[in-house]
Amino acid sequence: MGRSVNVLKLESGNSRRGAKSNRGRALVAGGAGFLGSHLCERLLLDGYEVVALDNFHTGKRYNLNALLRDPRFTCIEHDIVDALPLDLQVDEIYNLACPASPPHYQADPIHTFKTSVLGSLNLLELARRNNAKIFQASTSEVYGDPLVHPQPEGYFGNVNPHGPRSCYDEGKRSAETLFFDYSRTYGLDVRVARIFNTYGRRMQPDDGRVVSNFIVQALHGDDLTVYGSGQQTRSFCYADDLIEGFIRLMNAPSAPKHPVNLGNPAEFTILELATQVIEYTNSRSKIVHRPLPVDDPKQRKPDISFARNNLGWEPKISLSQGLAHTTAYFDALLYARPPVKEA
Ligand code: NAD
Ligand code: UDP
Repeated sequence: MGRSVNVLKLESGNSRRGAKSNRGRALVAGGAGFLGSHLCERLLLDGYEVVALDNFHTGKRYNLNALLRDPRFTCIEHDIVDALPLDLQVDEIYNLACPASPPHYQADPIHTFKTSVLGSLNLLELARRNNAKIFQASTSEVYGDPLVHPQPEGYFGNVNPHGPRSCYDEGKRSAETLFFDYSRTYGLDVRVARIFNTYGRRMQPDDGRVVSNFIVQALHGDDLTVYGSGQQTRSFCYADDLIEGFIRLMNAPSAPKHPVNLGNPAEFTILELATQVIEYTNSRSKIVHRPLPVDDPKQRKPDISFARNNLGWEPKISLSQGLAHTTAYFDALLYARPPVKEA
């Protein structure tokens, strides 16, 4: 058994097994994080009873405030590196637990690696005990600094196995191995999404990733910190589009035999992103250049043909629409202006 767990809310009587849920019980590891909290919200809307499990490393309790009012929602404070409670009963598992921002995942690289490997093993064993379907939040980082562009799922990647990003990239690659080995060995139903850069409401102002950094800097009137020349590219997906992709992948009638790319194929240089943010916020901020981090990928753009053809999924929210929602969110959060309506 793992160490004792702190359950944030279980007391509302019928909130455990008997709660009104017509879809069963879903566990979201990493449920207090940026994407995890959106996923919990969506699953509750879809009729699930939801258990979030989080160590609050980068996730925040206040991301769950609204959800904790729902009797079908429970949150357990737990680190997935530690053994999970043996009596946990679930029908579906989503594994989103892992710091995703480079400064956060590099702060304790060994724990990041353990989170992806030991944490995935613990959740896979839980899935096995419960005969539950299990979803893994993998990443476009498995392609490393890609030599094939755009990146299809069949590309094996170009990853440095011993650099400062490796704890994340290699951890996520190892997790993919484990997921498909559990599928081949035990017939477990696994669904693996390779997520490309996603942004939106509920990112932390100090998250450290580029979209939140630029918006917060622009709102404060600070210089926007472009790392390197800014000619490197990324493809930015808005969170709501991504969550729809998660749900479609998890509910596809048969499990794809490989990971599936989920992201927005519209590709921008980081300089273009900085310029758009300054224009959109009407900020007086200037662009300054800072050193490029080691092994920073030069280009990234998903080939989403598989998701389009097999899940009927593609992103609908453009970068300018997504920046508008995200800027309104940070504006309300940082300056206590009237809260923006949650989309
Ligand atoms: P996030 O940092 O906001 O969320 C991660 C959550 O996991 C946090 O709530 C954190 O406290 C929790 N967590 C971390 N380690 C844990 C552990 N050992 N045990 C329990 N909980 C733990 O990041 P996010 O952007 O919401 O990312 C969610 C998932 O999606 C991550 O697995 C990430 O690797 C993956 N992903 C995200 C993106 C993106 O652009 N947002 C891209 C690729 C992959
Ligand atoms: N980046 C930047 N300024 C910042 C933060 C990030 O120029 O303040 C760059 C970073 O070097 C990378 C890109 O933006 O080229 C995306 O970085 P992020 O950390 O958001 O995601 P990842 O590198 O994991 O794709």
